[in-house]
Amino acid sequence: MTTHPDELAGLTGLLTDQERAIAQSVRALAAREVEPHVADWFERGEIDDPRGLMRELGTLGLLGMHLDGYGCAGTSATEYGVACLELEACDSGLRSMVSVQGSLAMYAIWKWASEEEKQRWLPGMAAGEVIGCFGLTEPDHGSDPAHMRTRARRDGADWILDGRKMWITNGSLADVAVIWAQTDEGVRGFAVPTDTDGFTAHTIKHKMSLRASVTAELVLDGVRVPDSAAFPEVRGLRGPLSCLSEARYGIVWGAMGAARTALECAQRYAVEREQFGRPIGGFQLTQQKLADMAVEYTKGVLLAVHLGRLKDAGTLRPEQVSIGKLNNVREAIDICRTARTILGANGISLEYPVIRHANNLESVLTYEGTVEMHTLILGQKLTGQSAFQ
Ligand code: FAD
Repeated sequence: MTTHPDELAGLTGLLTDQERAIAQSVRALAAREVEPHVADWFERGEIDDPRGLMRELGTLGLLGMHLDGYGCAGTSATEYGVACLELEACDSGLRSMVSVQGSLAMYAIWKWASEEEKQRWLPGMAAGEVIGCFGLTEPDHGSDPAHMRTRARRDGADWILDGRKMWITNGSLADVAVIWAQTDEGVRGFAVPTDTDGFTAHTIKHKMSLRASVTAELVLDGVRVPDSAAFPEVRGLRGPLSCLSEARYGIVWGAMGAARTALECAQRYAVEREQFGRPIGGFQLTQQKLADMAVEYTKGVLLAVHLGRLKDAGTLRPEQVSIGKLNNVREAIDICRTARTILGANGISLEYPVIRHANNLESVLTYEGTVEMHTLILGQKLTGQSAFQ
């Protein structure tokens, strides 16, 4: 008789009936559409039908689900978080697909674009018919986007964009790219249709992480867009950072999904696998690993729920998201690596989900602000001193 980690600390009791129902339906979608194929996609480094998958996610109302209007579901932040957890329990690539569409591309347009642009893009994006990406990182500017080189200059009533964006999730699938560029007025955002002349996307190969996810380099070579494509109000990094805070919040939950899958797998394996004439789960060293994993998983979920409730109350601050992103991704990757040791040689095989999750989390550790960046954000809050430069 074993106890599921969620039952150990009574985690499911923290959620409302509605939150549990959303978890169930997302879990069912992932089990039906992705789970049976994801190890193969990871091995091949490509998703069979990403557009079809995006439409499925749209049908379930998962795209921009916590946004209001324009065909979005308008759920609570906690419900969105619960969905992220279930998506990432399947694969971080699946959660990334949803995060980039909803929390980065759609949120940027929903929050900052003109009404005309919102009407143009958001309903199709919510339905999964139109795919978006979010271009902030550049080949030479990742953690330090303030010095980005991509530039937008006025040309009559239009803007001309030139530059390169790197490591862009959904980049070569996207119909619309949110591009952040330097202008004479500071950094500004643009919703750029990807079929505009001068825009090209090149899929990045040879990734050893997040392989069931499309990542691309975007090249903008004299891309001309009308003034209506520019986000009218926002100037400076406040624009992209507001979007990153949304996506980071989803990761706080998502990382615990990857951790849960690894922990469940290791727990099952420890009970079934016998060495020296007894289940390896009977050895104290294995029990210590499982207990430590369960404790960190419990703490991570508690933190996610806490931040979700703060977000629903409208009081969540960026540094609180940093606590969650820093802790939960760091602990999730540790849980996956420990789970891998419990599986012995099987731990390195894609026949089990553990190494896939561990490798995926290497990306999650880096994107949306590296561990070091979130550490410095917290350090600055604690000391009043900025250590960034
Ligand atoms: P760098 O900034 O060069 O950092 C390298 C190392 O130096 C890191 O450990 C960093 O923490 C450390 N470092 C840097 N500055 C300091 C400092 N002041 N003090 C201490 N340490 C420091 N970006 C997008 O815009 N859109 C996307 O959709 C997107 N998707 C991604 C998908 C994947 C799979 C990956 C891997 C990345 C994605 N990214 C995306 C990019 C990601 O956000 C960046 O990789 C990340 O911000 C780090 O930038 P960098 O890789 O250039 O590393």
